[in-house]
Amino acid sequence: MTSAIRARVTPTVDARVDGDAMAAPPPPTANSPTAPATDAREGLSPVWAWCLLAVCLLVAAAVAAGLAGTDVTAAVIALCTVAIAVGIRRNRPTLSWPMWGFVGAGLFWIAAGTAREVIPAAETLGGRSLWSDAIALPGYAVYGICLVALVRARDGRNRGAVTDALVVSIAGFLVGWQFVVARTLDIDGVSTPDRVSVVLYLMIDCAFVAFACRLAFATSQRLAVQWLILAAMCGLLVSDVMGMVDALGLVAIGERQEIGYLCAAAAMGAAGLHPSVRMLHLRSASRRRALPLSRAALLALSLMLPAAQQVLDRDHDVLSAWPYQIGVFFLATVATVRLIDSVRDQNAAGDALAWQAAHDSLTRLPNRNGVAAHIEEGLERQQSIDVVAYFDLDRFKNVNDAFGHGFGDQLLIAVGERLRERLPEPVLLGRIGGDEFVAIAPLDVMDPLELAAHVQSALAHPFVIDGSAVTTSASIGITTTNRCIDAHTILRDADTAMYRAKAAGGDTFRVFSDDMRVQVERRMGVERMLRDALDHGRELTTWFQPVVDLRTGEIEGFEALARWFRPDGPIPPVEFIPIAEDAGLVSRVGALVLDQACAGVAEARRRSGRPLFVSVNVSVRQLADDAIVDTVAETLDRHGLPGSALCLEITESIMVNDQNIERLHALRRLGVWLAVDDFGTGYSSLSYLRRMPVSKVKIDKSFVDDIERGDESILVAILSMASSLGLGCIAEGVEHEVQAQRLRSLGCAGAQGYLWAAPGPIDRAVDACTPAISAR
Ligand code: C2E
Ligand code: CA
Ligand code: CA
Repeated sequence: MTSAIRARVTPTVDARVDGDAMAAPPPPTANSPTAPATDAREGLSPVWAWCLLAVCLLVAAAVAAGLAGTDVTAAVIALCTVAIAVGIRRNRPTLSWPMWGFVGAGLFWIAAGTAREVIPAAETLGGRSLWSDAIALPGYAVYGICLVALVRARDGRNRGAVTDALVVSIAGFLVGWQFVVARTLDIDGVSTPDRVSVVLYLMIDCAFVAFACRLAFATSQRLAVQWLILAAMCGLLVSDVMGMVDALGLVAIGERQEIGYLCAAAAMGAAGLHPSVRMLHLRSASRRRALPLSRAALLALSLMLPAAQQVLDRDHDVLSAWPYQIGVFFLATVATVRLIDSVRDQNAAGDALAWQAAHDSLTRLPNRNGVAAHIEEGLERQQSIDVVAYFDLDRFKNVNDAFGHGFGDQLLIAVGERLRERLPEPVLLGRIGGDEFVAIAPLDVMDPLELAAHVQSALAHPFVIDGSAVTTSASIGITTTNRCIDAHTILRDADTAMYRAKAAGGDTFRVFSDDMRVQVERRMGVERMLRDALDHGRELTTWFQPVVDLRTGEIEGFEALARWFRPDGPIPPVEFIPIAEDAGLVSRVGALVLDQACAGVAEARRRSGRPLFVSVNVSVRQLADDAIVDTVAETLDRHGLPGSALCLEITESIMVNDQNIERLHALRRLGVWLAVDDFGTGYSSLSYLRRMPVSKVKIDKSFVDDIERGDESILVAILSMASSLGLGCIAEGVEHEVQAQRLRSLGCAGAQGYLWAAPGPIDRAVDACTPAISAR
């Protein structure tokens, strides 16, 4: 039966799925190795690490003060080695073997220290325990391997970090050279093993510091564990330098040499215990980053060292030695490389920012700024005229709703790629936002019709996304740039024309014309005036049209209709209601009409003593607002009306949305009646109507007009369908007695129209149903 009813649009979802297997798009890879996904809080509390560090530093202070000796330090180093092992077990770092390597190296050092104590001096060479060195050196090797492994895991190719680490370690080497090596070489009677070991340990320690710097500088992420490892390497360097100075008899250091080892052990122990050790394997997401201030300060300090040494040290022989000069040369070279890199990075970062400002990150097409800049450039050159096509995908929202936003994004990317492929060379393609794209072509290359045809044919074939074929089309608005105006106006004009194409049902195009601009300006003016009227509570009012019972001829209620009387003349609801909907003002208009309608019917019920009802129009946008149920309940309450005194008129298009249906049920639970307005002109579907808690249908005036034209087929179909569904009928726009009689004979229960009364102020409507009272 519904096929007989004039259906304007058939509800269709544009996206069709081939087969059942609709795979959801893969979620963004939040756990990719570059993302800092591991949560440091899952490991040990950092308090343990800091406690260990504090205790060890206290011991170090005691050693410095001469209150404790080597036996205590040996115990502390053993404790810290155990702490690393405990930390690994409790924190469970993903990359654990280098940490276990540090435990192993700790054991080597404990053994080396013991060897130094135990092995008699007789077995030493030139006063040096080679046994102890033989045991310690593999420890250093293990350390080196573990550090390299951590650096590689943390960041493979960060040149800035490499150069920074080099600068710091060369500066460290220069200091070591000046204070240790150069002097060693000067001293007579220093044994060869001591000379060799001095250079060897200094180089090894500097290399360790370099690796640790590299680890700490590799990412912009601040991990405590990185800095603790760097601190440990610095401690090692300090102790070894102190040991050498002592061995060479330059300064008597004695057991204070242990302070550096103690600090190194403490920092490593704390590194193992600290929960950030869990994140040591994670790479930094961004490779390009600016030189952090702290690092810049460290580099500046390192660079100033040779100069400071020149000033402080009067022994210029040392400073003029060739290894020192080479060191200074390298320092300057690396620092220059770093400077160049840094400037290049800054430039690249600037370029990236400029690109981002003018491009859309999803499709990588120019965004609104990029497109506007292109148009402005063309306007400035004034050499050629451009054709601008602004297009919006039809029913894209359905795709998002049905398949999710990830799928929608993939469709947008695919559309962008397809269009870029299909549109010939000089055409610029951009994405303005959401599902809106722009194509700009020089007029001498392509005229408006050609450009529209290109876009339409590019979209004609389905897009296959995740194995599903999706069809889409576009509403296209076209304008040209020969009006010598700005990019903003050109895009707005094209957008206006696009809306025309959309209003014409989509999958078509419209070329902008001046009368469209006049209409747009009128719309904008109406919107501004409506806002003003609502803000000041003036000009808007509600009129009432009686609804009569066709059998008795008595008035049974009214339809409330919005009216807007401006000083320069009225603006009809057919004009301002759609504008209010677009501008998001319709709920405010609706609330005002609802309030005045309830006030009017309460007055009419009081004066007539009859249970009259009032019917209020509700727009789609109003029903999309959750507040509507509360607003209705509160308004009825305020006017002391039962729910049955109110009927809400909704259009068939409201019914396609499940959330709306839920709200309709909530309204019905208030006792409010629901009627389908303009029945037969929209999405006619029996199955929808069955799911609706509606009680009445309002038959559109066009079907009533058909009576006099002798074509009653649709009217008859609607009436019999309504009766089979148990719905009441009210015919609208009845102007002639003939129509009323025919409707009565067809069994239509109610009617409204100029035959009885045109809409009017509440007093006139009340008078119409209470002649006795009004006569008083
Ligand atoms: P509608 O709901 O179909 O309202 C019926 C329209 O037909 C009204 O036009 C009414 O004045 C007119 N009418 C009534 N009897 C006759 C007749 O015998 N002959 C003719 N030719 N017309 C008749 P109106 O007031 O201009 O309203 C137009 C439309 O504006 C309404 O159509 C309704 O869709 C919308 N509207 C009006 N007030 C409101 C409101 O408060 N909220 C919402 N959302 N929409 C409203
Ligand atoms: Ca209505
Ligand atoms: Ca109507």
